Amino acid sequence: MSNDRKMSLTVKVLLGMFFGIIVGLIINFTDMNTTGSFINVYIVDGLFFVVGKLFVNALKMLVVPLVFFSLICGVCGIGSINTLGRVGTKSFALYMLTTAVAIAVAISISASVGLGQGMELQAATSFETKEAPPLKNVLIDIVPSNPIKAMANGDMLPLIFFSILVGISILLVGKKASKFAESAEIANEIMMKMVSIIMAVAPYAVFALIARSISQLGIDLLSHLAGYATILIGSLFIHLFITLMIVLKLFSGLSPIMFIKKIRNTQVFAFSTASSNATIPITLRTATERLGVDNSVASFTVPFGATINMDGTAIMQGVATVFIANLYGLDLTTADYLTVILMSVLASIGTAGVPGVGLVMLSMVFTQVGLPVEGIGLILGVDRLMDMIRTAVNVSGDAVVSSIVAKSEGKLDLGVYNDRHAGAVISSQLHIDEKTEQELAKAVIQTHDKS
Ligand code: ASP
Repeated sequence: MSNDRKMSLTVKVLLGMFFGIIVGLIINFTDMNTTGSFINVYIVDGLFFVVGKLFVNALKMLVVPLVFFSLICGVCGIGSINTLGRVGTKSFALYMLTTAVAIAVAISISASVGLGQGMELQAATSFETKEAPPLKNVLIDIVPSNPIKAMANGDMLPLIFFSILVGISILLVGKKASKFAESAEIANEIMMKMVSIIMAVAPYAVFALIARSISQLGIDLLSHLAGYATILIGSLFIHLFITLMIVLKLFSGLSPIMFIKKIRNTQVFAFSTASSNATIPITLRTATERLGVDNSVASFTVPFGATINMDGTAIMQGVATVFIANLYGLDLTTADYLTVILMSVLASIGTAGVPGVGLVMLSMVFTQVGLPVEGIGLILGVDRLMDMIRTAVNVSGDAVVSSIVAKSEGKLDLGVYNDRHAGAVISSQLHIDEKTEQELAKAVIQTHDKS
């Protein structure tokens, strides 16, 4: 198979994104998306909505079984509770550190340019405060009273806890449970194959998701909020291309260029779904098959990161705090800024990586430092686009930390990491050859005869 063919999916996904932006902008600029119009009913809220939703559902469908099986395999693969504890501690520390640095840099940039100073207050869209879960509850809920309920709700921390406990117990039971571990291994492989199948249709879904989001964006709002959007996007890019890459190089010595090349696909998925949680299957696949992170590390660090690590979201909170404070002419002290940093880091632990959750966290931060929560209404109009970009940064952070932790544990395959084409989805992987088909049919007939 030629390398060109191997690269085709990445190129197609990027093309899907590109055309999605173009079509979305055309619909937006020409006002074709007015409520009740043909384009609105049949295309934007019809075709684009259905195709996009089907795809996001397909990704979400895989999250729980994938995390469950891959974590069981991961724990069995690590084989030692001490190592597990070390991986947990390292990843937690790195996630918190990168988030704190992210928000500190964002606040410094926004404050030094005086973002929002001298601007007129625009009529605010009302913003309803939703409560973020108190930290006490987050802690209590880590242990699920009903694991099936946690799975049904897609609650990541209790799911991680339960899966790890199952894995540890398999190790303790030993030989008797080895069949169960083997089955989990096979189930994990099947799930991963499903990820590849879903990725094959991704270019069309990415197109639909992005075209719909962009066509619904308030472009006029964007011009009012140009300063806010520019500083926010600038800070997100600085974090992605400078801070995270310095952290990667410093802590692991791995090549940032190779990382950027391999993470592109995952970023497009995160960008189009605006959800770190829905992107877990793709991030996990990229980490294990493209970056060479052993499943024993990635199966823990990726779902853990999707829940507790939100660098991009923290950056938004830093920029928004400075922006709204200046708009309302309120002075924030250094102590207030430190509170903002602490609150953002803590809030990111308790909130899941789903679209728009950053605003819920922001209202928590505002209440804490005494900023008007209704100020959030001012940035609401552009938040979807900002959410898409910051989610891409969030998942990149998850993959950076996974790579660093794996490298430090000797669980990173450098051959895979440095091979530009390793793990790229190729169509032949999704094709059942004739021999396999016949073997499968034979196995089914034999099982049938036996029963
Ligand atoms: N959508 C983000 C994520 O899933 C969270 C947010 O910033 O709203 O990571």
